[in-house]
Amino acid sequence: GATIGILGGGQLGRMLSVAASRLGLKTHIYEPGANPPAGDVAHRVTTAPYEDEAALTAFGNAVDVITYEFENIPTSALDLLETLAPIHPGRKALATSQDRLTEKSFLQDLGLQTAPFADIAGADDLEAALTTIGTPSILKTRRFGYDGKGQARIMSPADAPGALADMADAPAILEGFVDFTREVSVIGARGADGAVACYDPGENVHKNGILDTTTVPASLSPSQRTDAVLIAARILNALDYVGVMGVELFVTPKGLIVNEIAPRVHNSGHWTQNGCTICQFEQHIRAVAGWPLGDGKRHSDVVMENLIGDDVARVPEIAQTGAAIHLYGKAEVKAGRKMGHVNRVTGPAA
Ligand code: ATP
Ligand code: MG
Ligand code: MG
Repeated sequence: GATIGILGGGQLGRMLSVAASRLGLKTHIYEPGANPPAGDVAHRVTTAPYEDEAALTAFGNAVDVITYEFENIPTSALDLLETLAPIHPGRKALATSQDRLTEKSFLQDLGLQTAPFADIAGADDLEAALTTIGTPSILKTRRFGYDGKGQARIMSPADAPGALADMADAPAILEGFVDFTREVSVIGARGADGAVACYDPGENVHKNGILDTTTVPASLSPSQRTDAVLIAARILNALDYVGVMGVELFVTPKGLIVNEIAPRVHNSGHWTQNGCTICQFEQHIRAVAGWPLGDGKRHSDVVMENLIGDDVARVPEIAQTGAAIHLYGKAEVKAGRKMGHVNRVTGPAA
């Protein structure tokens, strides 16, 4: 069978490897850090930094296709790898989603709604943007932010200097605060043949900036549900995308507003492991391996709960319930670290 190269060896790479293995495919993980969670289940692991050209070359030559579990792969590594094997999702999806300014501009150009935003290169930009966008607003680093890191809320103009200091000179954007009623996400997939399949939207609740729970079905009207899926499909097609993507949306009285996109399998799609016949991980492997997409229809209602840090101590108790437990094999428990998740099937899909 073919070998799928995966950049990144965290829990997403691990669950992608499990799915690939079920399809009779092999995975080869490339990860700079030692003992990656994906290493337990992948067929091969390369431990090397993204600057190691010899290691990248050997990896690229050993695999049939390259995918990734995180979007911050250095451009130089991609430039080399793309000469050796196809990369899916492609460079356009990566470039668009690596930078919040590029991402928001792309979404607006597609005619989709985003929070009002402005490029912030320094104090003058921020002062000007605060007069147009106003407060409350959020200053975010353009790159490398996740789990709410690299963000500072600005409740009044007096907060501006402190917020700028939090950015530590990194390029940033200012976003107007969206007064949403709920947050939902669509996990969408597009195959090499251009077919698109989206999972039912999930409703997300965050705690301390980190996803806490995803519930399906989300409380949306039928037209909001359709709209959410159409937005995801439009983004997938515009990027000529191959693979699974997460699209985070704010629900507001003025319609759905796109928060951000992730060019990979997504934490808010973990419910699909126990709510669908074909989960997001299998769907992604199918797409990047050139297989037809599977049926992503939801057969069950599910609540997914992340096990963050010490939450993992509750596993023995959770194991006595009917919940499906997914652990990532991380040896060390740290505050804020994603250790696993639980899928509680709450009934058959209506
Ligand atoms: P992720 O871990 O999902 O990649 P992230 O660090 O990239 O997160 P965002 O998704 O941009 O950060 O923001 C984290 C959360 O902060 C959002 O899910 C939402 O709850 C809140 N948030 C972000 N931007 C806005 C906004 N413009 N208005 C209101 N709330 C926001
Ligand atoms: Mg993000
Ligand atoms: Mg987010």
